[in-house]
Amino acid sequence: MSADVLVVGAGAIGLAVALELRRAGVEEVTVVDRHPSPGMGSTGRANGGVRAQFATEINIRFSQHTIQALAELDVATAGRVGYRPIGYLFMAGTAASADALLRSVAMQRSLGVPVEWMTAHRVEELAPLVSVRGLRSAAFCASDGIIDPSGVTAALCAEGRRLGVHYVFDHTVSGIERSGDVALVQCGERTFEAAYVVNAAGPFAREVAAMEGVDLPVAPRRRNLVVTEPIPDAPPRIPMCVDMDTGVLIRREGPGVLIAYSDPGSPVTLDTSFDDAYLDDVAARLVNRFPAPLAATIDPRKCWAGLYPETADHHAIIDAPSDAPWFIQCAGFGGHGIMHSLAAGRAVAELVTAGRCTSFDLAPLRLRRFADKDLTLTVETAVL
Ligand SMILES: Cc1cc2nc3c(=O)[nH]c(=O)nc-3n(C[C@H](O)[C@H](O)[C@H](O)COP(=O)(O)OP(=O)(O)OC[C@H]3O[C@@H](n4cnc5c(N)ncnc54)[C@H](O)[C@@H]3O)c2cc1C
Repeated sequence: MSADVLVVGAGAIGLAVALELRRAGVEEVTVVDRHPSPGMGSTGRANGGVRAQFATEINIRFSQHTIQALAELDVATAGRVGYRPIGYLFMAGTAASADALLRSVAMQRSLGVPVEWMTAHRVEELAPLVSVRGLRSAAFCASDGIIDPSGVTAALCAEGRRLGVHYVFDHTVSGIERSGDVALVQCGERTFEAAYVVNAAGPFAREVAAMEGVDLPVAPRRRNLVVTEPIPDAPPRIPMCVDMDTGVLIRREGPGVLIAYSDPGSPVTLDTSFDDAYLDDVAARLVNRFPAPLAATIDPRKCWAGLYPETADHHAIIDAPSDAPWFIQCAGFGGHGIMHSLAAGRAVAELVTAGRCTSFDLAPLRLRRFADKDLTLTVETAVL
C-alpha cells in the first residue's frame, strides 16, 4: 500500500493530522495504529478539558485555534464532540501564584482571550464548592470548557473517513527507513510506502522516532484522575476550578467531582494502573480550596490513570529533522493534546503542502531546542 502521508498513531493528534491533511488537499492519507480502534491510548483516558488560559503564546494560539475548530466539528457532527463551555476558573492564594496569574492573563488578553478577573464573591457564586479563604486573585474564561474525549475521537475519525482518510488498525509499526524517494514503514509482514511519515505515537513517540535514528525527547509519565462518590448539595454546574497554589483542579463528574493533580515528580513509566498512594497526596492538597470534595468518599475502582506524553518544557514538538525532512515529529503534547489537536493538524498539513507553517510560528516547538538548551520561548507555568 502506498500513501502520500502515513501517520503513525490514531489518537487525537494522529486523527487530527490526517483530517487536516485531507482538508488541505493531500490525496492519499493513511493512519496506522496498533490498537483495534482509534483513541485507545492517552486520548481515551483524558479528563476532557479545553482551555486557552496558558502562559505562552504558542500554547494559547494552539488552544484558541483548536477550541474553535472543535466547536465547529461539534456542530458538523450533531454534538459528537460534546463541547460544553463551562469555563475555567484559575485561583491564586500565594504571592507566587498571583504573580504567575497576572502575567498569564496579560499574555492571554494581548492575544484576544476573553479572560476576566473575578472577585471572591463572584468566585463563590460561580463555584460554591470552593473556599475563597486567602484568595488573592482569580481569572475566568467562559469559552474554556470540556469536551468528550471519546466523542472527539469518533468525530475526527468519522470526518476523516468521510473525506477519504484510510485507517489501518491492529498494525504495529516496527521499522521505518528511507529508500530513494519513499519511506518504507514496516508493520509485521506488511510494508507501507509513503512520501512523508508523521510520528503521532503519543507516549511511544520516542520509540517510533528511534526507528529512523531520531532522538525525540518525549517521555511517558503517569497521570491519575480521582472521581468521588456523590457530594450532597453540590451545584449542578461549576467551571473547571484550578487551585494554582497546589496544582489541584476539580470539575463536576456525575453526582460527584473529578479531581486531578499533575505531580511534577512522577517518574517515567508505561504503567497505567491507578496509583492508590496518590489519594493521600491529593487529600493533602484539597484542604486549601476544596473542602467538600475532601470530605467525599472515594472508591479507587472508579478512578483511573493514563500517560502524559511529556517534554521537559511542557510543549509539544512539531518539526522534522534537517536530514530527514520527510519524517515529521508531532508529539509531546503532555496534558493538552486534545485541546491542541486540530492546530497541530493544521501545522503538519502546512509543512507537507507548503514546506513551512504559516498559520503558527512553530519556532517554540522546534526539535533542536532541547539540544541547544534554548527553552526561552517555552516557559509554561500553567501545567495541569
Ligand atoms: C489522565 C489524563 C488526563 C488528561 N486530560 C487532558 C485534558 O483535559 N485535555 C487535553 O487536551 N488533554 C488531556 N490529556 C492529554 C491528552 O490525553 C494527550 O496529550 C493526547 O491524548 C495525546 O494524543 P496523541 O494522539 O499524541 O497520543 P495517544 O492518544 O496516546 O495516541 C497515540 C497512538 O499511537 C499508537 N502507537 C504508538 N506506537 C505505535 C506503533 N509502534 N505502531 C502503531 N501504533 C502505535 C498508540 O496505539 C496510540 O493509539 C490527558 C491525559 C491523561 C493521561
